Order: sequence, then C-alpha cells, then structure tokens
Amino acid sequence: MQITRRSLFKIMGAAGGLSAIGSRAAAAENTSDDDYGCLADVGRCIGCRKCEMACSKVNALPPAQTSFEDMTVFDRNRRPDEAAFTVVNRYFSSRADERGQPVPAYIKVQCMHCLHPACASACITGALKKQENGAVTYNPSRCIGCRYCMIACPFQIPAYEFSDPLTPRVRKCTFCFENISKQGGLPGCAAICPVEALTFGTRSELLKIAHQRISEAPLEYVQKVYGEHEVGGTSWLYISKVPFEKLGLYPLPEKEIPHLTETIQHSIFAYMWAPITLFGILAGAMRFFNPQQMSGKPSQIQTEKEV
Ligand code: SF4
Ligand code: SF4
Ligand code: SF4
Repeated sequence: MQITRRSLFKIMGAAGGLSAIGSRAAAAENTSDDDYGCLADVGRCIGCRKCEMACSKVNALPPAQTSFEDMTVFDRNRRPDEAAFTVVNRYFSSRADERGQPVPAYIKVQCMHCLHPACASACITGALKKQENGAVTYNPSRCIGCRYCMIACPFQIPAYEFSDPLTPRVRKCTFCFENISKQGGLPGCAAICPVEALTFGTRSELLKIAHQRISEAPLEYVQKVYGEHEVGGTSWLYISKVPFEKLGLYPLPEKEIPHLTETIQHSIFAYMWAPITLFGILAGAMRFFNPQQMSGKPSQIQTEKEV
C-alpha cells in the first residue's frame, strides 16, 4: 500500500490520538545556544580532501581504498559510509573562469548533528543521543540493529556495517566528541582545513560569522545559512555562493522531525503493534519529507552536475 501525504497525516492524527505516553523531548532537551557547531563555507573549500584524511585518522577508520590525494574520486559523487564519516563532493558551476573553464564548487558532507535529531528520536533504545556540547553520539552497546535511525535521518547519513556479521554498528560522524569535550579541542576536520573553510565554535557565534560574511558580500553569497532553521536547526551550518539545492542540500521543513517520529513510534509501541508496522510508517514519513531519497532518484548528490 502506498502511503500518500494525506493518508500519512491521517495516520499521524490517529497515532497522536492513541498516544498514551505523549511525546518525549529527550532528543532535544540538551540543546542550547552554546552548543558547539561548525560552519562550512562552500565558497572557500578547495577540495583538498585533507578533512577526509584527518577524519579517518582521528576515528581510526579502515584504510581508504584510494589515497586521499587521489582527485579522481570527484568523478562520481559519494556518500559518507562505514569507512568514511565525511566525504567531499565536487559540482561544476555554470560560471566560467578567465580561461573559460567551469568553476568547481566543493562541499563536505557529514552528519549535521541536528538540534532535534530524528535519528535519536527514532532510536527505541537510546543508542543515539544529543549531547550537551552539541554532538549526536552513538553507543553501540545499546544498539539492537533495527536501523530505524537510517530511515529517520533527513540527510541520509547513518551507515551500517553490513559486512560485519557479528557486531555490526551504525556509523556516522562523531563530531569528534572526545576532542571537542576537552578545553580547546577541535574536530579533526576543522583543525586541518588549510583554508579555514571549516570554522568551529558555538552555534550562536557561527551564525553571527555566517551572516556577517553574507552581508559583507551580498552579491556573492546566497542570502541564507543552511541549517539555521532546517528541521529545527542543525549544529553544522553551510554558507555558499552556489544555490544549496545545486549542491545536494535540498529544502527541508523548519519543523523538527522528532515530533513526527516520536508520536508515531510511541503510539505504536504503547499498543504493541508489530515493529514492522512502525518500519513501514516511518518509511512513509521519510518519503514525505525526503521524496528524492525514497524514490531512488539522485538525491543529495548528482555526479558532475552543472550548478
Ligand atoms: S544528520 Fe541524521 S544522523 Fe546526523 S543528527 Fe541529524 S538525523 Fe541524526
Ligand atoms: S567532526 Fe570529526 S568525525 Fe565528524 S567529519 Fe569532522 S573529523 Fe570526522
Ligand atoms: S580540508 Fe577544507 S579545503 Fe580541504 S576539502 Fe576539506 S573543507 Fe575543503
């Protein structure tokens, strides 16, 4: 049965009515203006991939299949996966340089560390948690492998270690939680970026910096900070001289998603419906919020797409 938007809202309404335990705010309770965040300035990124290298090292990830100096990886767009918590993708601008060559734009992709993380909300065991410093962390000892988080994430970030038959984990950017919990600690990617395309700080400071850069070059920058409001706000923020949707950052509703996932999930579990039912309804919910992902069309990324 295909779940239409209309029928989804009917289901949501019924679920809300049935709810005996109400919506929990646990996923969002730790957010504040002093949460850490990171501002990615797409206009500054030169696509050197040093952030990918640093991330791999800091998180002791498996060796990359190709060197981090191999720029042929830009020939196709990539997604973060269990072996790479962040990737940089290249898009070509419709603008040409002085030699008539199209101008590339590079964008780093990783978990956005949402202020109201849908992944944490959908997780029935509390394995994913929004920490007080802004990071959304994962505790493998609590994970039962249901992978609801992967369905719930509006940015299609969590990956799963399907190749590990014994102790598979959900994998995603950790925001270098241990590092940023220390005084003066930086995420590995922000620490290594040679052109300061990545700025680490409190989210409120970063928003000021972002709006200042935009106002100082209003004809260059898109008049928007991506992540300021999307899905209730994210700890990673982007500014760009290329329209965001051309970089795979699609428009999303401002309302946080956990209200939806929690209401449905808690209502269903309160009445002991089978988890498979929840899986189907969450999939319908995510189809509503992110139709590109569920339809199989290219979503966040499109190889060599002209921007
Ligand atoms: S981007 Fe996805 S995985 Fe990361 S915090 Fe948000 S919902 Fe969770
Ligand atoms: S914050 Fe840490 S885990 Fe996340 S992309 Fe940067 S280096 Fe990787
Ligand atoms: S290290 Fe900085 S400039 Fe290099 S690819 Fe990463 S974000 Fe871009």
